[in-house]
Amino acid sequence: MNAALSPRGHTLSIPSLTPLTYGRRRVLGGSTSGERGVVNVEPPKILCLPFVRGVSEGIERVCAPLELKAAFKPMRTLKQCLMRVKTTTPQDRRKGVVYEVPCKECNKCYIGETRRTLKVRLGDYKLAVKWGDPKNGIAVHAHESKHTVDWDEAKLRSSVSGYW
Ligand SMILES: [Zn+2]
Repeated sequence: MNAALSPRGHTLSIPSLTPLTYGRRRVLGGSTSGERGVVNVEPPKILCLPFVRGVSEGIERVCAPLELKAAFKPMRTLKQCLMRVKTTTPQDRRKGVVYEVPCKECNKCYIGETRRTLKVRLGDYKLAVKWGDPKNGIAVHAHESKHTVDWDEAKLRSSVSGYW
């Protein structure tokens, strides 16, 4: 025990510190007398690599004298090869989408949202532009500025369904 003075002059006792040990401790089997010893054992360094038949065995042999443990994982599991949990819906059949429709002749871009597919919504816009619908933003821009809408570059920005 170490002793130190407190600011008021009283003696404080500070327990002696024991050094911290790092690494795994392993309790070894004792002798016939029942004693057990505690030995610090460093965790083995693990080298994690994809398994390649014919190469991995050699790597394991090379690693052994270096105190490295080689661990191999399959490059693709059978589950990954055989299972496809969810199929991705093609963009033109996706519903509940945010989309953008650019102008061919200026840098303006119309951004909208629909619960239907982009293809169906673009059909509405094409009719609106054709008939000059004054309530439709794309039709108004096309008619007022005499610009052409770039229908081929219309694309999805993100999906709305499942966002919340
Ligand atoms: Zn324009």
